[in-house]
Amino acid sequence: MKKSYRIEVDCANCALKMEDAAKKTEGVKDAVVNFMAQKMNVEFEDGADVRSTMEKVLKNCRKVERDCEIEF
Ligand SMILES: [Zn+2]
Repeated sequence: MKKSYRIEVDCANCALKMEDAAKKTEGVKDAVVNFMAQKMNVEFEDGADVRSTMEKVLKNCRKVERDCEIEF
């Protein structure tokens, strides 16, 4: 399953760090951040719970970029 989320991130460098953190999150198959569009596309692993996976994604992203925001 793939979903698109609105994000808030201040620069392209932090966007890349967020993408990396999202990719490493349990339940995430792949993640792509588009800094210009302020969007994150997430592909979930089969059977992953979307809501709890996104909570982990946000937590991991905030470890690398404290001020980032993901709307989910
Ligand atoms: Zn930054």
